[in-house]
Amino acid sequence: MLTYRKQIPIIATPDVLVCGAGLAGIGAAVSASRGGASTMVVERNGFSGGFFTAIIGSAFDGFVDERTGEPVVGGIVFEMLERMGVIQPGTGPSLRYNVNGDFSFVEMHPDRVIPRCDPERFKRAADDILEDASVEILYHTQVADVVTEDHRVDTVVVSNKAGLVAIQPKVVIDCTGDGDVAAWAGADTEKAESLQPMSLHFRIAYLNPDFEMRRKCASVLKQVHNAGKLDLYAGPYPATFSGRDVYFNATRYPGDNTVPEDWTRAEIQGRRDAWTMFEAWKEQLKEFEDAYFVTSGPTAGARESRRIVGDYVLTGDDVREGRRQGDVVVLGAWRLDRHPATQAGYHEIPWTPPYDIPYRTLLPRTIENLLVAGRCHSATSEALASSRVTATAMGMGQAAGVAAALAVATDGAPRSVDVKSLQDQLVGQGAILEAPESDVVVGNPKW
Ligand SMILES: Cc1cc2nc3c(=O)[nH]c(=O)nc-3n(C[C@H](O)[C@H](O)[C@H](O)COP(=O)(O)OP(=O)(O)OC[C@H]3O[C@@H](n4cnc5c(N)ncnc54)[C@H](O)[C@@H]3O)c2cc1C
Repeated sequence: MLTYRKQIPIIATPDVLVCGAGLAGIGAAVSASRGGASTMVVERNGFSGGFFTAIIGSAFDGFVDERTGEPVVGGIVFEMLERMGVIQPGTGPSLRYNVNGDFSFVEMHPDRVIPRCDPERFKRAADDILEDASVEILYHTQVADVVTEDHRVDTVVVSNKAGLVAIQPKVVIDCTGDGDVAAWAGADTEKAESLQPMSLHFRIAYLNPDFEMRRKCASVLKQVHNAGKLDLYAGPYPATFSGRDVYFNATRYPGDNTVPEDWTRAEIQGRRDAWTMFEAWKEQLKEFEDAYFVTSGPTAGARESRRIVGDYVLTGDDVREGRRQGDVVVLGAWRLDRHPATQAGYHEIPWTPPYDIPYRTLLPRTIENLLVAGRCHSATSEALASSRVTATAMGMGQAAGVAAALAVATDGAPRSVDVKSLQDQLVGQGAILEAPESDVVVGNPKW
């Protein structure tokens, strides 16, 4: 062990510091700043969006009630869809949407709007919404350590090209996805014994994708796997933004991204597997005759790592039974989509009705001026299979940001925020907190 002493500059003392500018972090920073708190966001990448943008492409899951196509998350989520040009301003609540752009879902409901989020449009819309809300943004800045005093985060130490520098906020919102701040502040966290695998997405150009191509790709991967040339793989799940190029969610690497060696292996193995797949498709499928491997990454994505233990732990039963909660701050609605760590191909994704996510799942038990939003909120690993997704994370972030601003305006303690005022403010901002009723029975995707 080494003891290391160093004086570092305090570069900022914002009311609210948001750590991580993924979906949750964008929601949190925008709503804290709009709530009147001076707000800074630090993000280790050079862009916002978290794994939504850092893995090339992703669906916008958790946004709709699959039975009816009604949106179940509003507020900043609608604003982002408007800024990307997916919907016209003000139309968000009245439209009916497809669950996502996957061919099998679109085949079930061809009449519904697809909430398609091109990552480059998303990055630009995120920059704009943060700047328009007067959030101070620091990209290429990674949280490196936390100084805690009397069960409060006193200082967040970050590292960037200026070296190590300190930030001293009144309230911190941990949106790192991995609960870095919470864990380093000494809050209780948990990790599943078998985490969902990481995946390195890749993009192939000069293709005309359709359902048939997907089936053919799946059949080739099965052969390559059976021949011992490819170990684990997912789906494959191809999706398109342009109609002429495809990103593939298809690699699978079991491991923990908070273990640096695991994340390194996920990148290296992911690239190898992506090329094995591409070369096999090119050899066997005429659809790939002109295909070109454009890019992978930029990073292998992690679906699950640390989860905080909060004042309430969301459970699999809460999700499956669509349970109501008095302190609901966002609705979850995505299927129980737990990618298996050791199985190749498609996995079951059981449907769930919309369910309430309580404010208490954003409050780590032992730290007073800290909120946690997004995929590291307080949930069992089973429940997180649904609540981890994009639109849900952004809704959680919006709730955390409003709560942080309310806390700053009172005693600085998110735990003593008046939940009714929080819910009223969220509804005033277009958030949806009442779960729709429906007796429609939904089908399973045809994979
Ligand atoms: C491979 C993969 C495929 C997925 N596919 C889908 C899909 O199709 N549909 C869907 O809805 N969801 C999908 N997801 C889930 C989704 O991308 C995220 O789980 C969701 O966006 C959660 O967002 P978040 O903001 O909580 O976390 P994250 O997206 O993890 O964002 C965390 C942010 O914090 C930053 N950060 C982390 N640590 C630090 C630090 N120490 N200092 C500073 N910054 C830090 C990160 O760079 C990142 O920007 C997928 C995830 C993965 C990994």
